[in-house]
Amino acid sequence: MVIVLKKEIDERRKDEVRSFLEAKGFRVNEIRGEEDTIFGAVGKLSIDPREVEILSGVERVIPISKPYKMASREFKKDNTLVEVTNNRGQTIRIGGSRFISIAGPCAVEHKEQMFDVARRVAAAGAVMLRGGAFKPRTSPYAFQGLGAEGIKILKEAGNAFGLPIVTEIVSADHIPDMIDYVDVYQIGARNMQNFELLKKVGALGKPVILKRGLSATIEEWLMAAEYLLSSGTDDVILCERGIRTYEKATRNTLDLSAIPVLKSLTHLPVIVDPSHAVGIRDKVPPMALAAAAAGADGIIVEVHCTPDTALSDGAQSLYPEQFEKLMRDIDVLAPLTGKETVRIRPAAAKTEALAKEQGAEISIGKTAQAVKPLCAFAGSRGAYAEQAARLYFDGALETLPCSNFRDVFRTVSEGRASCAIIPIENSLAGSVYENYDNLIRFSDISIAGSIKMRIEHALIACEGASLDTVKTVYSHPQALAQCSDFLALHPEWEQVECPSTSYAASSVAKKNDIHCAAIASQHAALCFKGGVKPEVLKTGIENNPRNYTRFLIIALNERPEQPSAQPLAGCTFVRRLAEQNRGALTASFAFVAKNESGALRRCLSVFEELHVNLTRLESRPVQGQPWRYMFYTDAELPDSFSASGGADVSASAEDAAYLLVGQAVEGLKAACDEVHLLGIYTEVN
Ligand code: PEP
Ligand code: MN
Repeated sequence: MVIVLKKEIDERRKDEVRSFLEAKGFRVNEIRGEEDTIFGAVGKLSIDPREVEILSGVERVIPISKPYKMASREFKKDNTLVEVTNNRGQTIRIGGSRFISIAGPCAVEHKEQMFDVARRVAAAGAVMLRGGAFKPRTSPYAFQGLGAEGIKILKEAGNAFGLPIVTEIVSADHIPDMIDYVDVYQIGARNMQNFELLKKVGALGKPVILKRGLSATIEEWLMAAEYLLSSGTDDVILCERGIRTYEKATRNTLDLSAIPVLKSLTHLPVIVDPSHAVGIRDKVPPMALAAAAAGADGIIVEVHCTPDTALSDGAQSLYPEQFEKLMRDIDVLAPLTGKETVRIRPAAAKTEALAKEQGAEISIGKTAQAVKPLCAFAGSRGAYAEQAARLYFDGALETLPCSNFRDVFRTVSEGRASCAIIPIENSLAGSVYENYDNLIRFSDISIAGSIKMRIEHALIACEGASLDTVKTVYSHPQALAQCSDFLALHPEWEQVECPSTSYAASSVAKKNDIHCAAIASQHAALCFKGGVKPEVLKTGIENNPRNYTRFLIIALNERPEQPSAQPLAGCTFVRRLAEQNRGALTASFAFVAKNESGALRRCLSVFEELHVNLTRLESRPVQGQPWRYMFYTDAELPDSFSASGGADVSASAEDAAYLLVGQAVEGLKAACDEVHLLGIYTEVN
């Protein structure tokens, strides 16, 4: 049963409720949910729920109707996020907004084989390395695996490329050989109902991938998960790997319908193993894509550099090239299901992250230090975003052009740039919604700063040109529209649309023709290359001089996906930036209000009660959920927050502000289905 505790319950009352349940033979788990604190109580005997309901501090008791308890959605409403950290300090989360791929050979054969394949799958986008060392083979004469030696090789190869390792455990006797090395244990299909093994592995408290038994129903599978959960681990990942049917064309029949079924029955992450399901190499990629489309949280795929000589399951192992292609396809497909893929960051990112932690990397204004940040932006050199980044960092930065906004986010997420700049709002054109969506999807990225810049368009041509020589004007359609009054003075000019203003400027530079001109930022003129000199023919040609764009500086931040876990963990880097910055301290939130009357009003009153001024409120449809809306709000934090609200008076003003944000997050949770803290940062004007 699930026991929902009263919000105001103190620790002593909690202990009393716990002791009461334990005395009745229940095993009690405390779960801090988005809104409530609950006890999950599982026991052999049943008791009348009213006996518990009358205890002081208990709000209500919900009996769980399913035979599996801890695995059920009734027990835990929020999705479980299984976290696995690699040897570079990067945490991979399974079950949230990221799609993960685990790859590697069926069996560990030798060191060179593992290093070769680990290198390839890591480069292609796998985030964990698989490989069996203790192999449960149908025939006793088949290769049984390298045993303890294989585990060591697997770990060494994984560490070399930042990949945590997944490997099957077939007997509790092998725990001593595995415990120091294994990141995620796998329970194979043949052992799904080996309950003694499940109990021992569950007790290790480590993440476990639980494969579906060859002929197990979904309920039997969840009962097996219950064994693991009730033995001591919270981190169970269900893996659909095909079931036995009358069909012989494939090794097994992949039951993709299990994915949506499980998603409603359980909070546990679900991944798919298309390799063991189909047993034939060329059938693996389509089934992997289908799994992604059906809402799986990831895949586990067999890959081998020389599958023809593989000691096991060669016929179903992908060549690395096939895996690379699959990863590219998943990159494109995953966003359709509201997910983004995730990658292992390069080893250098660790030092970079450390440098940031120590405040050495990012340098702003007067406090400029040796290492300049590398700031990604969308567009080519000379783009307004690049100019805004220069302004924000007082010129002390390197910049990295990317082809689009999603690429910018991925570049930061994968540690290829230390930060990025993105436009979020234009005073004439409105919000850049795509970037709001990206801020939610890339949960490892936070807002680290913000800057407003006036957009002043200039007409730029090559040396020797004048207003009289121009015949064709190139620019982004929005910029052409914003300069329509000026262009109307020259009706004879042909207008050519380009993907961006900076692209227009570089095309004009390449043409080196006095008949061509571009509408772009004056800054774009600085980016003329190859000996071509720019000629700025006219500046300030926009119709409305009140044309401003607000840009956000974004950076990696291990912000938890569910702020309930640790509301403000991981804000240190952002905070360091803020300390060195100047301007008003702002916190940005995104939330989905409950679908009930007064929910939005209750959200807004959270800010009112905390005396926080909201400077902006936007709404945007939640992707994939028609007619549900995500609200985005910017809250201006007071400079000092010492007198009211119960903040610690001795704490610095900024600490008080952080405390205030924590209170806002907690308050919002009561009225929302989802709350995201997007960042705490300063606005630069
Ligand atoms: C494996 O993953 O190597 C394996 C043996 O899988 P399954 O247990 O699904 O057959
Ligand atoms: Mn295999």
